[in-house]
Amino acid sequence: MSKQDLPLGRTGFVERKATARGVKPPRHLSDLEIADRKQVAADLGLPDFRADQLARHWYGRLSDDPQEWTDLSADVRSQLAESILPDLLEPIRQLTCDDGTTVKSVWKLHDGALVESVLMRYPNRVTMCVSSQAGCGMNCPFCATGQAGLTRNLSTAEIVEQVLAGARSLARGQIAGGPGRVSNVVLMGMGEPLANYNRVTRALRILTAPAPTGLGMSARGITVSTVGLVPQIRQLAQEGSPYTLAVSLHAPDDELRDELVPINNRWPVAEVLDAAWGYADATGRRVSIEYALIKDINDQPERARMLANLLAGRLVHVNLIPLNPTPGSKWTASRPEDQDEFVRILRSRKIAVTVRDTRGREIDGACGQLAATSTA
Ligand code: SAH
Repeated sequence: MSKQDLPLGRTGFVERKATARGVKPPRHLSDLEIADRKQVAADLGLPDFRADQLARHWYGRLSDDPQEWTDLSADVRSQLAESILPDLLEPIRQLTCDDGTTVKSVWKLHDGALVESVLMRYPNRVTMCVSSQAGCGMNCPFCATGQAGLTRNLSTAEIVEQVLAGARSLARGQIAGGPGRVSNVVLMGMGEPLANYNRVTRALRILTAPAPTGLGMSARGITVSTVGLVPQIRQLAQEGSPYTLAVSLHAPDDELRDELVPINNRWPVAEVLDAAWGYADATGRRVSIEYALIKDINDQPERARMLANLLAGRLVHVNLIPLNPTPGSKWTASRPEDQDEFVRILRSRKIAVTVRDTRGREIDGACGQLAATSTA
C-alpha cells in the first residue's frame, strides 16, 4: 500500500509520531531535583531565594498564574514563567460521572502524545490516578492501554503536573463537594511506572517533599502499581520512602500468568512475590496484590486456593478488580457467585480482601480502560 492509500488521519498520526521521537518535553521546574532549583535561579542571574519563592507559589499555594506572585517583580515573574514553567499538559477533554466526583482528563503533550488521569473523590479522601507513560509496552491482553504499545516515557514534570492539575481544581472548589486536597496518588493510569523508574521516583520525591518545597503528601498515600519488574521492586525498597507497592498478579500459576501478564515469562510468580515480600520487610508496608477477576479464566476456586497458599501469613492485602472488558475483548467479569466464592476462600485463610469499585466506568476511566487516542 502506498502512502497515498493510507487514510488521511492515519498518515498524520504516523508522521507526527515520527517527528516527535526523541524530542524531549521542554524543561520544567518539576523536572528538577529539589536541590537543583537554586541553580536555575542562578542561571537566570537571580538570587537563590527566588527559586524558593517560586516553589512556594507553585507547590505550596498551587498558583499557576504569574500575576498572583506579587512578591516577585513583574519582570522576574515573566522571566521565570517563560524559562521553566512551560505548559506541558494541554487539556483536550474532561469527562465526569458519579455526580461530578469522578473526573477523567485527557491531556495532549507537547509532541501530540495523549495521556489520561482520573480524579476520584470519596467521602474522606481524594485519589488521583495518574499516567507514567504514554501507552505501555507490557502488552497485558486484557488492558486497553497495552493494546497500542508504548509511545514514550513521561517526564517527571508531566507526571507531577497531572497531580497538580487535580490539586488546583480541588483547591479552587471546581470539583463537586467543595474545596479539598489530593490525599492519595495511584500510579495506575497509563503505563508501567517501574519501566520509567528514575522519572517516576523523582516525581514521587516532589509529591512527598514537605510543602512548600513539594506537595507535602504522605508516602503511604502513594501507590506504585507494577506488573512485577523484580529489579526495580528491589530498588524501590531501597529508596527509604514507604510508598505502597501494588503488584498486578492476576494469576497464581505461571502457566496462566505467562498469558495474562507476559512479562511473567521473564520474572515468574515466585520471583515477583519474593521481591514483594522483600519490599514489605524493608518498608514495613503491607503489599497490595491486584487480581482482575476474569470469568472462567482465573476465577476458579482452585486458583483461589493456590493464591491463598502463596499469600497466607504474609503482610498483604488482595484487591480484586472485576474485569472491565476492553472493546472487542473475549473476556468478561466473573459471575457474582464466583467472585463471592473467591473472596470467601481467601478470607477463610485470614487474608485481607477488598473488591475494587468500578469508579469511572461510564467514562472509560476505570482500571484498564485508559486508552487515549486522537479520537478520544
Ligand atoms: N502497569 C501497572 C499499572 C497498570 S493499571 C500495572 O500493571 O500494575 C492498574 C491495574 O489495573 C493493574 O493491576 C492492571 O492489571 C489492572 N487492569 C488493567 N486492565 C484492566 C481491566 N480491563 N480490568 C480490570 N483491571 C485492569
